[in-house]
Amino acid sequence: MSGKSPHHIDDSILGQILNSVDAYIYTKDIAGKYTYANQAVLELFDKSLAEIIGCDDSHFFDLALSAELTENDQQVIKKAIRVEGEEYNFIKNIQAVRIFKTVKKPLFDAQGNVSGMCGVSTDITSEKKLQEQVNEQAYLLDTILNNIDAHIYMKNNERTFMYVNSKVAELFGESAKNIIGKKDYDVLPQAIADHFYQSDKEVFASNQKQVIDETVIDENNIAHHYISTKIPFSQPGKPPALIGFSSDVTELYNLKEQFKKLANTDSLTNLYNRRFFTKQAHKEFQRAKRYSQVMTLISVDIDHFKMINDKYGHPAGDKVLIDVSACLSQNLRESDVLARIGGEEFSILLPETSLEDAKILAERIRVEQSELVISGKWQGDIKLTVSIGMSSLTENDVTFDALFSRTDKALYLAKTSGRNQVYTL
Ligand code: GH3
Ligand code: MG
Ligand code: MG
Repeated sequence: MSGKSPHHIDDSILGQILNSVDAYIYTKDIAGKYTYANQAVLELFDKSLAEIIGCDDSHFFDLALSAELTENDQQVIKKAIRVEGEEYNFIKNIQAVRIFKTVKKPLFDAQGNVSGMCGVSTDITSEKKLQEQVNEQAYLLDTILNNIDAHIYMKNNERTFMYVNSKVAELFGESAKNIIGKKDYDVLPQAIADHFYQSDKEVFASNQKQVIDETVIDENNIAHHYISTKIPFSQPGKPPALIGFSSDVTELYNLKEQFKKLANTDSLTNLYNRRFFTKQAHKEFQRAKRYSQVMTLISVDIDHFKMINDKYGHPAGDKVLIDVSACLSQNLRESDVLARIGGEEFSILLPETSLEDAKILAERIRVEQSELVISGKWQGDIKLTVSIGMSSLTENDVTFDALFSRTDKALYLAKTSGRNQVYTL
């Protein structure tokens, strides 16, 4: 300042530069009185330079509402240090708060003592408001995404997680902060990461949304079912990415399976019902035809079952059906299809089984059933016999029904020939 009046600065080239800068530039003495202010400051306060010089900030700011301003000034003057920070200052002239990014430095006299300070302040009110809005929106979005009952993430084609919500973090056993920015194989076991990457690649290759059913077996050997949607997402100048939504549908899946099973099962005996048997039989028939394989069908019917019901009661009859079913199941292989076809009638479809082999099985069934003793809350033990009709697929059978009715006929002949016997056609 070299003893010249501030008006001199204003007229000089330096002054012109200071006035054209898009910032508030000012100097104050040790008592906080203005010694210089550039054009921007004058305009902000709506004062001339002469009106400002010699006045302290109490004239221009509501200092009770501008805490950082006073605090920063004191730091600079008392500690002789440079202070950089944000100031929320209430300006009397416009009756509003303005936010400044401010740099304040001490000024020294010839003896090296602090003689005042100079400051450069930039108005960042609108940027600050915008940033607050962005932060608020990000917070809102984060709150929503973290409270949705789904796993949500963003991942790029370099396998880097760009976002995970708290559900994903929970699943991976890591904080979201520790997952974002990392590769999938750095936060997941390699095999699982590779598995997920397979369907990621399809999204990137096709640039199409993919919907995937996924089953994950957890450490307790419990299956979890997920339905995952992966949507391609691109941002200019950034590698292709995808947004993934994955919902746990285990409950729904189990319910569906349960319904499917119910629809195919006879509730009393837990065997397949006629509906399922017919569907399966047609499939097996087609296969046997296509590969010219042998196949045999066995029909089992309890003899004089009506008499059992009449003598011991309906609940006893039910127990007989349950025990007969269990006995039949014991004799069969995985590929055989056993079903309760009617009241006390059962069908056994034996794929890839010749008539000779099936005869041995049928005879064993007949004997075992005759050895069954069924007891319960009724008087006496129940004994029973079964009649069995059987037949194998022939070249002339055009539909499964041909085999079925021949087997039924064989059963009828077993009945009329005295029951408790196997009849083959
Ligand atoms: P056959 O030796 O000729 O086969 O004589 P049957 O008495 O076994 O045959 P019939 O068809 O005359 O009678 C079948 C009986 O099975 C009649 C029906 O009331 C009984 N039944 C059908 N379903 C059930 C069931 O779920 N529980 C019980 N307890 N009885 C059933
Ligand atoms: Mg019967
Ligand atoms: Mg019958």
